Amino acid sequence: MGGRGVMMPLKAYCEGKGVRILLEHKVTDVYKNADGRVISARVEAGGKVINVRARKGVVLAGGNFKSNIAMRRYIDPRFADPRIPATGYPHYEDDGSTMIAGLKAGAMFEAGRGEDTPYMHRMFGTRTYGFPKGSKFGRPGIGVKGRRWGDVIFTNASGRRFVREEDKKDLGGYTFYDMALVQPDLVIWTIFDEAAARKKHWSIAEDVCKKGCAFKADTIGELAKITSQPELAAQVKRYNGFVDAGKDEEFGKPAELLKTKIAQGPFYAVRLVVFLHNCAGGLSINDNAQVLDIVGKPIEGLYAAGENCGGIYVGNGMPRGIIPGRWAGEHAARAKAA
Ligand SMILES: Cc1cc2nc3c(=O)[nH]c(=O)nc-3n(C[C@H](O)[C@H](O)[C@H](O)COP(=O)(O)OP(=O)(O)OC[C@H]3O[C@@H](n4cnc5c(N)ncnc54)[C@H](O)[C@@H]3O)c2cc1C
Repeated sequence: MGGRGVMMPLKAYCEGKGVRILLEHKVTDVYKNADGRVISARVEAGGKVINVRARKGVVLAGGNFKSNIAMRRYIDPRFADPRIPATGYPHYEDDGSTMIAGLKAGAMFEAGRGEDTPYMHRMFGTRTYGFPKGSKFGRPGIGVKGRRWGDVIFTNASGRRFVREEDKKDLGGYTFYDMALVQPDLVIWTIFDEAAARKKHWSIAEDVCKKGCAFKADTIGELAKITSQPELAAQVKRYNGFVDAGKDEEFGKPAELLKTKIAQGPFYAVRLVVFLHNCAGGLSINDNAQVLDIVGKPIEGLYAAGENCGGIYVGNGMPRGIIPGRWAGEHAARAKAA
C-alpha cells in the first residue's frame, strides 16, 4: 500500500471529527511559555504570519531535510554538492523547516542509519524514482539492481571503469557510492550490450533518453565517440578479457557476476544518477514521541514523528511516521491543556 492508502482514510477520519486541515501553511517556529512548554506554532501562509495556539502540544512532522544543502552537510560533507538530487523532487523539496523549528526550540539532533547506505540510492538515469515524467533526472525505463550488475560495467566521463560492479547491500553499496561520488563531474555511465538489454527488457525508447540520458550505437567505438568517452573501447576489451579469464584483475568482481561479455551490438550507454533518498537523522524523541532537549529532557508540549525524528530508522519510511505519530497523539491527548 502506498502513502495515499494510509493518508486518505486518516484524512476522512480527521475531517469527520471536525479537524481543520490547512494546506500551504508553513510552520517556521514553535513558541514556549515562561515554563518552557510549547504553546503555539508560528505559521506562514499567503504572505501572512499567524500563530496557532496549541492547547495540548505541537507535533512536528514536516518530513526530511534532504533538499536542504546546509543540513545535508551535517551528515556528510559530500552531500553538500547541489548536483546530487533528492528523491521526491520536484513534487516536493524537503527543506527540513519543521526540524529547524524544533532545533531552535532547543531539541537535540540525533543521527540515524538508513538502508543500503546511510543515505543514498542509485538508479539508471532513465529510471523513475520519485522523479516525474519530463524531469531532467528521467523516467521511466531501466532500474538495475542486485545481480543484474553482472551484465553491466560502470564507466566515468573518460570511459574508465572505476568500481567492482557488485550490488551488495552494505559492502557493495558503500564501495559503489564512495567511488561514484569522486568521479569527475559526477558523470557515471552504465554500459551494456543488446544481449543484456533483451534479457532484462531494458529499453531506452522513452523520450527522456533522447535528452542526453541514454545512447545507442552499433559499435563500442561509435558509442565512445557519441558519449565522449575516449577510454571506453579499451576498457570494454579489457573487461571482456577478464570474463574470458574468469578473473577481474582490476576490481575483483566476483566470478559469478563475471560471466557476460559486452560483445553483442548494438551497444548502450545510460547515465546513472546517484541521489539522496534517506537522510536518516533528526529530532531526538522518547517513546512518547516527545522531543528531547540537548540533555535528553523532554520539551513539554513538543512532539515529532516521521522523518523529522532521528534514531528510529527501521527499514521503511512510513512506519516512522505512523508509529511515533500514534505515540504523540496518545500522549498529547492525556496532557493537561496549557
Ligand atoms: C520515491 C520514494 C519512494 C518511497 N518508497 C517507500 C516505500 O516503498 N515504503 C515506505 O515505507 N516508505 C517509502 N518512502 C519513504 C516514505 O514516503 C517517507 O518516509 C514518509 O512519507 C515520511 O513521512 P513523513 O510524514 O515524515 O514526511 P512526508 O511524507 O514527507 O510529509 C511531510 C509533510 O509535511 C509538509 N511540510 C514540510 N515542511 C512543512 C512546514 N514547515 N510546515 C507545514 N508542513 C510542512 C510537507 O509538505 C509534507 O506534506 C519513499 C519515499 C520516496 C521519496
